Amino acid sequence: MKGPVLPGATLGVMGGGQLGRMFVQAAQSLGYFTAVLDPDVTSPAGLVAHYHVQTGYLDEQGLAQLMQRSDAITTEFENVPAPALRTLGAHRPVAPDADAVAVCQDRAAEKAHFVACGVPCAPHAVIETEAQLAAVDDALLPGILKTARLGYDGKGQCTVADRAALVAAWGQLGQVPCVLEQRLPLALELSVIVARDAFGTVVSLPVQQNLHRDGILAVTQVPAPDVGTAQQAQAVDAACRVAESLNYVGVLCVEFFMLADGSLVANEMAPRPHNSGHYSIDACDVCQFELQVRTLTGLPLVQPRQHSAAVMLNLLGDLWFAADDTERAPPWAQVLALPGVHLHLYGKTSARRGRKMGHLTVTAADAHQARATALRAAALLGLPPF
Ligand code: ATP
Ligand code: MG
Repeated sequence: MKGPVLPGATLGVMGGGQLGRMFVQAAQSLGYFTAVLDPDVTSPAGLVAHYHVQTGYLDEQGLAQLMQRSDAITTEFENVPAPALRTLGAHRPVAPDADAVAVCQDRAAEKAHFVACGVPCAPHAVIETEAQLAAVDDALLPGILKTARLGYDGKGQCTVADRAALVAAWGQLGQVPCVLEQRLPLALELSVIVARDAFGTVVSLPVQQNLHRDGILAVTQVPAPDVGTAQQAQAVDAACRVAESLNYVGVLCVEFFMLADGSLVANEMAPRPHNSGHYSIDACDVCQFELQVRTLTGLPLVQPRQHSAAVMLNLLGDLWFAADDTERAPPWAQVLALPGVHLHLYGKTSARRGRKMGHLTVTAADAHQARATALRAAALLGLPPF
């Protein structure tokens, strides 16, 4: 195996969203040059990278330009077409590789992979045909119908109470391939981020406890206040197995549900850093984006250490609108007057309701203090308590 791609080289990233932006920032702080491919002129990552290739993800000239610029290439969003990664991978080191990303892009393949790793997931059925629709087991209802591909932040999902609703929902989703999952009684949600390098070294971030509102992540708390030590170990172990059996190179996030009886069920995985791992920028000695740089370049992977308790609040575009729908700036000065507040805004040029505009991490010496300060920040911002 060749040596690492050292600082001074250029790292490329497919996709220009906030995850790409934070990857670029981590890479730059380690002394790399950066290149982003994204069609949007004002993409958050494109705005801060050294080079911005403004084409579609499958544009041959764009891919050629990115390759020309970059010594190694990664992806920041899981819906980058796998064929584009394959093209790049033929000429440059690419991590994660197209095959691993392809599994994460398809809920049916993803669930099959969990099962193959001995990691439990929700009872489900794949629906691609009328016959499969008709054959659905009653035990899966009430359920959640999810498109097999291209869903995010709860988009491409319908809750279905009964068979009639299921038939209607599949029609509404355009009869595309879907997965119907039994609706589970969730006690809480958690996630684990692991990083694995080409030598097989695996490291992990501590377990994250996540609160979603309307299908979108709202709050992440680390340490996880309501997840026992044994369950935490079980989740980390499951995430490592999932990465190992994909022969995965890069950062991988596995989301889990904890049910009322304390058992864990894998929900889905993302072949990249994850919103629930953003706290690691301010609360860990190595953050998820530096892990992405290290796995991509072949620099040594060391086990990250969390040095502060943290609570992360997602900042959605809703905060930019008053009750009467007029635009306003959130009260940043008041929020930043609180101790241990780290504000991260992604440089998006316009706010929309439900759009991820930034996040805020509160760090403190202990979890109690982090939560207390985060609740004060939430109140100032008009966010509900948690
Ligand atoms: P992401 O932004 O994480 O990619 P997504 O759109 O891919 O989201 P999921 O993670 O599948 O969607 O689901 C979003 C949320 O909906 C979950 O975090 C959970 O709160 C709820 N949910 C999903 N599946 C189930 C289920 N089977 N039972 C109960 N709640 C569920
Ligand atoms: Mg999810």
